[in-house]
Amino acid sequence: MKILILDLIMYNKSRSLYNKLIQPYFASHMPKLIKFWLSSHDVKLMVLTSTPRIKDLPDEVSLVFIQTYTMNYYLAQAISKYYRSKNIITVIGGPHTLSYPTNPVFTVTLLKTSRSSLFYLMRSLRNIQHNQEIVLTTNSSLESVVLESESKFILGKLVTYITSQGCDNRCSFCRELSYTDLSHDLYQDLVTLLSLTKPVVLFFHDANLSNNLNKLLDSLTRAYEYVESLGKGVNELNIILELEVEKITSTTSNSMKLLGLKSVSSGVETFHRGLKRGRRELTGKFQYISPKNKMISTSKNINKIVKNIPNLQLNMLFGLDNDCRELENKDNIFDLTKEFIRRTPKAYINFQTLTSFGNNTRLSQQLISQGRIINVPYNLLDGYRLSNIVLDCDPILFYSKYAELIKYASSLRVGLKRVALVNDKYTRLYYLLKLRSERNSYNHFINIVNKLKTDTSFYNFLTGKSKTVPRWLKAEVEPSLGEFSLFA
Ligand code: SF4
Repeated sequence: MKILILDLIMYNKSRSLYNKLIQPYFASHMPKLIKFWLSSHDVKLMVLTSTPRIKDLPDEVSLVFIQTYTMNYYLAQAISKYYRSKNIITVIGGPHTLSYPTNPVFTVTLLKTSRSSLFYLMRSLRNIQHNQEIVLTTNSSLESVVLESESKFILGKLVTYITSQGCDNRCSFCRELSYTDLSHDLYQDLVTLLSLTKPVVLFFHDANLSNNLNKLLDSLTRAYEYVESLGKGVNELNIILELEVEKITSTTSNSMKLLGLKSVSSGVETFHRGLKRGRRELTGKFQYISPKNKMISTSKNINKIVKNIPNLQLNMLFGLDNDCRELENKDNIFDLTKEFIRRTPKAYINFQTLTSFGNNTRLSQQLISQGRIINVPYNLLDGYRLSNIVLDCDPILFYSKYAELIKYASSLRVGLKRVALVNDKYTRLYYLLKLRSERNSYNHFINIVNKLKTDTSFYNFLTGKSKTVPRWLKAEVEPSLGEFSLFA
């Protein structure tokens, strides 16, 4: 059977250099696994980093899988309609379906994809018509399908890998999924990668690799020693992962440097009043920390570890109620974040606005019950363009300060200083490309502020007073679909 798998990963739909060079590194794990599991068929996997043209997609297929995030759902829908108009069965899966399980323009919606659900689907195909609507789910989670010997076969220049599923931190804005260790074959898989003869980028897709960091460093050390002892040379391995910076000590950051960890990404709380384990932590008590002290201690900690990691990206989320309430204060999150950037020049900050997807986080459920979710069109729900929450402050003030912060962070002075401090050529290129896209982001938010000031319908929409989506917001959807807008 001829099968097409589409992985829609684009953050913006253009054919920019950033999309071409950087986006492929964000290719998803599951589409590769599906390709591997279905390897007895004729399978083509396409990772789309910009809106495709109709002629880019093959016609002669019997089954099309589409993995998508919410921000690309309209494109996924249009592509599905295109294939279904040719009597071809379409299947949707990925983060969007977990948040929004109803997807009527697809033949099949896969929730919690696993090998068993996939094989069940393949066995059922002869009974499925392209114009049906079926939701398939499975109770088996990722542990039954990833790793063992399989991950070794997902090879290319970029290898995606998972050592765990879920996280026990229970942040209110994150999907609750209990932690499961999946790292059984880590050592053996690292030996395989280090024995190859072509450089590999190894991208860990764990939501939070902190629990397995020591195991990773230990397995890497042993794998390097073992492959070295074979005398055939050790392959170059560039590692990218996501973990909590608080879990990195000076010792682990030294090991990370020695073992070739190229890029670490971590969530960092914005600097509002919070609780911190203090000296009395042995008694199990916490102490309050002021926003300014929180910023200073985070900066000190990061400056200690950033020496050893070429690319340290800190993800910061803006729009939580605590942030909004303190906007007028002297030590508000925006001014403190600017100060943080001054004190921590080598770290790169990825700014995102709070976005709610469906009802699968505690925060989303709370916001839904408070009537604070705005029906912002899906294409804007990427965390970089518009929060779909009624903020606990005036949106004009919030977005003005947010735009100013992005302007500061993307200024040539700050950006070029960071580039000069880094001694890895790929990281330098990454930061330069990011600098350009951040300037566009600043223009976008200034535009939002101007619209809020001049367009009452937009102001009412973002403050929850009106449910009507402004016409100009709706009008942005169609052009983003390119030729597929014909099927929207
Ligand atoms: S946001 Fe990060 S640390 Fe918090 S629960 Fe999710 S994965 Fe864990």
